[in-house]
Amino acid sequence: GTEAIPLKPAVIVQETVNFVRATVPTTIDITLDLDKESGPILADPTQIHQIVMNLCTNAFHAMEDMGGSLVISLKNTDITANDLGAEKEVRPGAFMHLSVADTGPGITREIRERIFDPYFTTKEIGKGSGLGLSIIHGVVKSSGGYITCQSTPGEGTVFHVFLPLVDETI
Ligand code: ADP
Ligand code: MG
Repeated sequence: GTEAIPLKPAVIVQETVNFVRATVPTTIDITLDLDKESGPILADPTQIHQIVMNLCTNAFHAMEDMGGSLVISLKNTDITANDLGAEKEVRPGAFMHLSVADTGPGITREIRERIFDPYFTTKEIGKGSGLGLSIIHGVVKSSGGYITCQSTPGEGTVFHVFLPLVDETI
């Protein structure tokens, strides 16, 4: 089951990125911009690991053939409706903000509309389950957060995850 506890996610993000660094080829340049005090959020550590891992894995696969750069950033932020686009119903407030940016081929608007759907994949049979983003989407939504994707074909893709801060001293 899941065990949501108040936590600061920096260590989990750091360890997951260390793992990614150790496993991807050096043609992928990885930068981590970490605010160690980011949080606290109410979350299951395993789910934070899974979010970072799934986003980094997708970014890596997108850049696998060409190389490129992967930038992971973690900080706290105040969000307003503007930050997430007019179409979303946003509860403004203080959030943890995780972003994962790559310089891969990007995602067309048409495909972007479907990436959070379960079993949606553009990968070859056997290479992608199409579940990574739908799982993250479910976790983020059930935590009262938001996930968005910005992408420019030919330039790259950025995923943003926002999780609400909790009033806890940890
Ligand atoms: P899978 O990785 O198994 O295909 P995901 O749910 O993780 O499933 O991703 C769904 C689809 O979203 C991918 O098949 C791909 O088309 C697209 N996608 C996700 N992340 C990226 C990215 N960083 N760059 C380009 N396309 C992406
Ligand atoms: Mg995936």
